[in-house]
Amino acid sequence: MRRPIWIFLAAAGCAVAAPSGEERLSPPIAGPLIPASSFGEYRSTHYHGGLDFSTGGREGVPVLAPRSGWVYRVRASGLGYGRSVYFRMDDARTVVYGHLSRFERRLAAFVDAQQDRRGTYEVDLYPKPESLAYAAGDTLAYSGQSGAGPPHLHAEVRTGKDASVSVNPWLAGWAPPDSVAPHLSRLRVEPAVPGVLVNGGLDPVLVSLARTPPPTLRISGRVRLWVETWDPVPTGSRMAPYRVSVKMGGQVLEQVVFDAVDWNWAREVNWTYHAPSARSRDAFWIALESPPGGRLHLALAEKDWTDDLTAGPHPLTIEVADAAGNTAQAVVSLIKEERAPEVPVAAVKKTSIVSRGSYLEIRLAGRTADLHVRDAAGKIDTPNTTRLPARGGTVFQIGRPDHPGAWSFFAGDSLLGRAFWLPGPETGFSWKRGADSVRVEAGPAAFTVLDDASYGPLWVLLRSAPAPRVPAGGGELEPVSDIVALEPWAMPLRDDARAAFSVSGTRRGLALMSRETDGWDFVDADTSGGKVRGRVGSLETLAVFRDRTPPKIRILAVTGGRNARLRAAIRDQGVGLAVRSLVFVLDGRDVISEWDVDAGVLIGHLRSPIPPGPHELAVEAGDRVGNRSRARLAFTVR
Ligand SMILES: [Zn+2]
Repeated sequence: MRRPIWIFLAAAGCAVAAPSGEERLSPPIAGPLIPASSFGEYRSTHYHGGLDFSTGGREGVPVLAPRSGWVYRVRASGLGYGRSVYFRMDDARTVVYGHLSRFERRLAAFVDAQQDRRGTYEVDLYPKPESLAYAAGDTLAYSGQSGAGPPHLHAEVRTGKDASVSVNPWLAGWAPPDSVAPHLSRLRVEPAVPGVLVNGGLDPVLVSLARTPPPTLRISGRVRLWVETWDPVPTGSRMAPYRVSVKMGGQVLEQVVFDAVDWNWAREVNWTYHAPSARSRDAFWIALESPPGGRLHLALAEKDWTDDLTAGPHPLTIEVADAAGNTAQAVVSLIKEERAPEVPVAAVKKTSIVSRGSYLEIRLAGRTADLHVRDAAGKIDTPNTTRLPARGGTVFQIGRPDHPGAWSFFAGDSLLGRAFWLPGPETGFSWKRGADSVRVEAGPAAFTVLDDASYGPLWVLLRSAPAPRVPAGGGELEPVSDIVALEPWAMPLRDDARAAFSVSGTRRGLALMSRETDGWDFVDADTSGGKVRGRVGSLETLAVFRDRTPPKIRILAVTGGRNARLRAAIRDQGVGLAVRSLVFVLDGRDVISEWDVDAGVLIGHLRSPIPPGPHELAVEAGDRVGNRSRARLAFTVR
C-alpha cells in the first residue's frame, strides 16, 4: 500500500480550532442533562452547531452562565434560534443558548428598549462589551421553544473572535451519561470514476452492516463511501455519532470526526450528508470524504486508496463511535477484482442519460450504438469517453471534456440530452478562476454558473418537462412555467447558480420555487429585468408559480388588564408569509409582534395594560410576493 496521504485540518483558510484540552464548562441547566440532538447533525442549510437538551416538555428552566463573562450578542426572532443569547466567557469562548422563552430581567430590559426604539420584534444586538456582565452560575435566561419547538434548550460552545466556529460541546464537559453504542446500519458504495463496477454493476450498492456472516463487496476501482449510522438516545431520537472510520489492517483509510464546524462553510453539510437522502428526511448517511473544493475538512481520507489494493479479498472495518467512547464495528469482505473487458456490465432496455456527478452515463439501446457529442458552438467533439459492453446495447461514460460549457448528446440524429460541465476548483485548467461563468439555456430558463461553483468536477444534466400540476390540497399556487431540472438533484454547489425564467404577461405574484419531496418551496420573487430570478445553492428542480391569495388572519385573543396579550392565527398556503410584515396595530400604533412559527400565531407584546375605553385593533400580514391582508377588531376595555 502507498504511503498514506492525509488532508489535514490546517489546510489553507480553514479556521477550525481543535477543541481538546479546553477547561470543562459547568452545565447550562441544573439537573440531569438529557440529550435530544447532538453536534453535527444535518439541518437543511447547516450542521447542528450544538446540543439540544430536553427540558421535560416545560418552558422556563433557568439557563445558566457556565463561567463569568458578558453578553456579546442577543437576538429575538420568530425564526431560527428564536430568542437567543451569545455569552462571551472570561476564557474567550462563547456559549450560545437558543429557543429561550424570556431573558433575565436586566437583559430583557435592554432588549425591550431596543425593540421599542426600532419598532420591531426582530432584533440582532451587540451590547457594549462587558456592559451586561454576569458571574458563573447566574441565570441568563429561561428555556422555551421560540423559533422551533417542542420545548428544549439549544446550547453551543463557540470559539473565535466573532464566535464563528462551533465546537462539539461534549468535548467541553457537557457530556450526558451515555452507555448505549451507536447503531451501524448500512454502507453505500458508489463508483467514483468511469469504468468502475461495484458488485459487477454500474449502480450504487447498499450493503447491510447488521448481517452475519459479514457481507462481501466487489469493487474494480475507485469508490465513494457513505455510512448509515446514528446514535440512539433514551428519549428515542436519533443523533449524529461523533466519529465514523473505515480501516484496513489497523490503518485508517477514511474518517469523519465531528469536532468543530465553521459557520462560514456551513453549506458543506449537504456534502457531509448524502443530500438527496437527507432532504427526504433520511438524514443519517454520512460521507467519508470531504468535498474536493471544500473548506471544513471534517473528513480525512487517504487519497485513492482503492487504486493500490491488490486483487483479492481485504477485510474492511467500519467503526462508529459516540462522544462518550461507545463504539460499534462491522467488517465487510472487500474484494478487489479486475473488470473483464468483454463481459456485459448492464442490461440496456431503453436509451437513457444520467449524471453520476463527475461523469455522465449514457445507455444506448440497440446494436448500432452511435454517439455524437457537440459543444455549444455546434462543433463535434469527443470527450473522454469510456465505452462499456452491455446486454442489448452499449454504455458510454463521459468524463472530463476539453472545455467547460454546454454539450449536446445525440444518438444518430436524435437528441438524447443536454448537459454542462463545471471543472470545480481543483483542476489543472488555466482559464481565469472565479471570473468565467457558464451560461446555458433550457426551456424558459437561463442559468449562469461560475466555472468553479461546484465542489469538484461536475456534469450538470438539464431536463425540462411540462408545467407542474396544481399541488394537491387546493393550494394557492398556480403554475406558470415549464419545469426545468438540474441534475443530479440536490448535488450541493460551493457558489450559487443564478436562474432566470422568462414568463409572459404580468409578473405580479410570481415566485421561483424548487421541488422538494413533499411539494414546492419558495426560492425567490425577484422579477427585475422582466424575468423571474433566483439563486440556488444546489442542483434543483425549478418552476415559476403565481400566488394571488393573501394570507388569512384570525384574531384569537385580546387580553386586557395587567398581562395584556394579543394573539392572531395567520396562514398562507401559497409562497409563504413574509415574517417581517406581520404586525399588530393598536389604536393606530404598531405593537412589538413576535411570530411563533410552529404555532402559526402572532403574539403582540404590550409593555403596559390597555387602558379602559374603546379601542381599535388591526392585524396586518403579507406574503412573499406582496399579497397583503388586514383584519380588524373593535373592542372596549371596562
Ligand atoms: Zn438545537
